[in-house]
Amino acid sequence: METLKSCPLCGEFGPFGVHIECRDYLVSQEIFTVQRCEACGFLFTNPRPSADEMPEFYHSDEYISHAETPASLQDKVYMKVKQLMLRQKLRVLNKHLNQGFEGSLSAVSESNQYAQRSGRHEPKHGQHEQNTPPDIYNILDYGCGTGSFVYSAMEDGMNAIGFEPELSAREVAAKQGVPVIGSESEMDSFADQTFHAITLWHVIEHLHDFKEKTDSFYRLLKPGGVLILAAPMANSSDAAIYGKYWAAWDLPRHILHFTPDTLKQAGRDAGFEYQEHKPLPFDAWYIALLSEQNKLKEEQPEKKTGGPVALPALKAAARGGWSNLKALAGTSPWSSQTFVFRKP
Ligand SMILES: [Zn+2]
Repeated sequence: METLKSCPLCGEFGPFGVHIECRDYLVSQEIFTVQRCEACGFLFTNPRPSADEMPEFYHSDEYISHAETPASLQDKVYMKVKQLMLRQKLRVLNKHLNQGFEGSLSAVSESNQYAQRSGRHEPKHGQHEQNTPPDIYNILDYGCGTGSFVYSAMEDGMNAIGFEPELSAREVAAKQGVPVIGSESEMDSFADQTFHAITLWHVIEHLHDFKEKTDSFYRLLKPGGVLILAAPMANSSDAAIYGKYWAAWDLPRHILHFTPDTLKQAGRDAGFEYQEHKPLPFDAWYIALLSEQNKLKEEQPEKKTGGPVALPALKAAARGGWSNLKALAGTSPWSSQTFVFRKP
């Protein structure tokens, strides 16, 4: 474990107050603390596992079964909405790519022909600057997991590549023909201004050295390039409703806990211009369902998992819906939001 002496966002040396204490329901069952920087309001897990210790906190039967077999109710729900979410993410990406590079791509129809000729599933990654015609977008999905977003971007005609440090996820991605790298040295070997867009879907809250990373994303993006960061919002109304049971605290795997203000600040600190945010409305229901299960585990620890799911599911539907209504009304942020930044 490591204890931070300075705020990961503003660098002040405290004071830090206790924001909330929560159990790790997934793996260790230990209690962890989210602290708040009094100077800037940023929330972060402290103390936290070091980067080397973190893999221990991903090992659980539940985690593995969740990854491989969509057996439980929330997994089925998740699989269903996943396709919808992917399309929504691509829409946001395309909109901002078109705004940022309007006119700089010579002919869209040619780019589609190129994608078909060269094989959409075999982009020539690693040689973006020399071999890629200027009429195709280079996309990096950082923390791509099993590569579903990279795959969708490739199907959409983009030259996409994923970065994923976890070996088993990377193997699944590679099996599906998704180009994926896994080491920092491979990241460092990309030339400056390689990418038109870099995306992090629920990844930034896991990064030990996020300032270093946002700086390197700035280096890797072309001027006008797009950085997309999606994260849970620690001041959403479902976070308030569920308190210590809120599944998106996900301690200690989430070490940074953003609000709209602190996430915008993180982007600006790296030199980016904030463009807009978009809701990820399905996350409120998914997080609510997991949060109801956390509550059950605390109240009936002997039961662990299984048992009747109808009541928690109904409660989750109601509370997730309530969170989305409040977000629609503008009184609190969505459970999870996507933030779009541009490199000037
Ligand atoms: Zn701070």
